[in-house]
Amino acid sequence: MRKSLVAGNWKMYKTPRESIEFVKVLKDSVKVYSDRDILICPPFTSLVPVSDILKGTPIKLGAQNVFFEEEGAFTGEISTRMLKDTGVSYIICGHSERRNIFMETDEIVNKKVKKIISSGITAILCVGEKLEEREKGNTFNVIERQIEKCLEGIKDTAGVVIAYEPVWAIGTGKNATPEQAEEVHSFIRGLIEKLFGKDFAEKILILYGGSVKPENIDSLMAQKDIDGVLVGGASLKLESFLRIIDYKK
Ligand code: PEP
Repeated sequence: MRKSLVAGNWKMYKTPRESIEFVKVLKDSVKVYSDRDILICPPFTSLVPVSDILKGTPIKLGAQNVFFEEEGAFTGEISTRMLKDTGVSYIICGHSERRNIFMETDEIVNKKVKKIISSGITAILCVGEKLEEREKGNTFNVIERQIEKCLEGIKDTAGVVIAYEPVWAIGTGKNATPEQAEEVHSFIRGLIEKLFGKDFAEKILILYGGSVKPENIDSLMAQKDIDGVLVGGASLKLESFLRIIDYKK
């Protein structure tokens, strides 16, 4: 039985003060579940104050990005060591916004995944096809290429969570149907089995992301291979994030 994960990706929203206000209420309102973990990934500037508030609560802390070097002359970048020191236990990598706006390639994402897991942090590896790739019938090829390249040279998936995020569903209000998502999730689990063996395929968490909201969370979580969600917009509002955390299977 896999423990599910409900993760909020705040992207470039909320100042430290706004983040503090939000998590203070979140920690007092959230229900504790033994079958699911809760994670928030605020902007870097909010990590330290949010981490202090989350101490002793069941809510985990994650970062949205990292550089793959340990330290050095890399202006504007941040390392796993710096993030770990703030209390981060997850880092998102390969998000489509990083791939498309900041030109991150599978090779760069692969270096990041390796650095994250060797630092003892869980990597949330995002993969997903663009609309034109889906329309041309290339969804599985794209996902397979991204997973194979981003996990190249990694011996097992113990420190990896995969987030399937169809690019056409991110921030558009247009989510994949539960059946469309399940089809890809089941393909990903099969691919992990092929690459790393049955045991890792059974254990790995595969999250869905792309316009998750209170109205669709229950039907998404009812799917066999959907082990949780990565939520952007709807994680910024307390009421909607709480309802998503409170999903019913
Ligand atoms: C995301 O940022 O990973 C995401 C899925 O965003 P949204 O939920 O807003 O589509």
